[in-house]
Amino acid sequence: MPKKVHHVVRRAGIKLEDPVVEIPVAEDIAGVPGIPQREKDVAFYSREYPLETQNVEKAADREWSWTVYTPEVFAYRELHEAANKPLVEAAAVTGEIEPTAEPVGRDITEEIRKKAYELGFGDVGFTRYDRRYTYVSKKRWVKFEHAICVALEQDYAQTQSLPSLEAEYAHFGTYEIENAQCLKLADFIRSLGYHAQVHSPNDNSAPFLPMFVQAGLGQLGANGQLLSPHFGSRARLAVITTDGPLTYDEPVDYGVHKFCQECLICADRCPARAIMRDKVWWRGVEKNKLIYDRCRPVMSTYEGCAICMKVCPIQRYGMKPVMEHYVETGEVLGKRTDNLEGFTLRDKGYFGPGELPSFDRKLFDFPHGTKDEWLFAEFKKKVEANSGATKEESVVFAGELKELLDQGDTTVGDE
Ligand code: SF4
Ligand code: SF4
Repeated sequence: MPKKVHHVVRRAGIKLEDPVVEIPVAEDIAGVPGIPQREKDVAFYSREYPLETQNVEKAADREWSWTVYTPEVFAYRELHEAANKPLVEAAAVTGEIEPTAEPVGRDITEEIRKKAYELGFGDVGFTRYDRRYTYVSKKRWVKFEHAICVALEQDYAQTQSLPSLEAEYAHFGTYEIENAQCLKLADFIRSLGYHAQVHSPNDNSAPFLPMFVQAGLGQLGANGQLLSPHFGSRARLAVITTDGPLTYDEPVDYGVHKFCQECLICADRCPARAIMRDKVWWRGVEKNKLIYDRCRPVMSTYEGCAICMKVCPIQRYGMKPVMEHYVETGEVLGKRTDNLEGFTLRDKGYFGPGELPSFDRKLFDFPHGTKDEWLFAEFKKKVEANSGATKEESVVFAGELKELLDQGDTTVGDE
């Protein structure tokens, strides 16, 4: 039985010349624009428990990840780091660069939007840079108040092969392109007479997703990813901040918040059982919370995993067909089909709808915390293991400790 349409969202196409996309939102999944949020709670948590980047807070397991990569993933990640590092470093100092012309003195929103599309971004939106989400270690780094949110689509076909090395090419390769495009867009803003600071997707100043939602570029899916009207969760996100005059976009209700509760395919298919089926209030926002400690080891061990991205119907078929199908039938397009839900996990085999792999408990035993916390935990382990050791054993022990401390000096790569 067809459902009543509550409202129709109209979005510009993925390219400048594309027609407007119309997405119907059924009455029973209509919610609020953006995300249900308690402003006072968001403010409280940002003040009392400010966020910190995973580069610092989760440094131990980021380092550990390199020890469980396959040789092929390891070799590719090294290549990616080498190619990406100069781009990330260039972005880090963009806030210091002066404009190259006198300010044009007009609203530059549409000029930036046009330039972003020309550079290849698939969507762009404008909002206030929300400092409530800024990471502790980046608070002094962020300079300007307006945020330009840019999304770059990663390759469709490669993404459908998740989890695989092929999909990792799409994932990390897109970041390399995006970093370079952001630097060019910042140059363009400076040529209009205003400052522009690039917030690299690989050295985030904050979680970008809340600002993308605020700018109307999509809504938060149960899989923890931005569900874009154009490419679902196949979007890689970056932000540029500026002091140039802009007009902000508005958040949009695409129906995602409630649709996810009808769908829940990502929660059912996650091999680590890491996605909560029921929403909770977390730091002032209502969402399906991801359990990091279950996701991380599977993601690191199995080529980035991201099965939660692969099996999402909005990623796979697009938001418009999925929402139209829901209005017509009340059903989730592709649910319980091998076409959508099937995946293959290296060394484990193929898993169709209703089937999941099992893992050895040891897989979930990995180091936690900052580098210092991890080093101390390792230090303790070694001291305990060496109490009562002979002189020779103590020499070996001293060597192991030195090795450990040297590891603490290595840098951490992006995800
Ligand atoms: S990346 Fe894999 S393990 Fe992590 S939430 Fe997604 S499906 Fe689950
Ligand atoms: S798979 Fe379904 S529940 Fe998960 S994010 Fe996509 S639409 Fe939402």
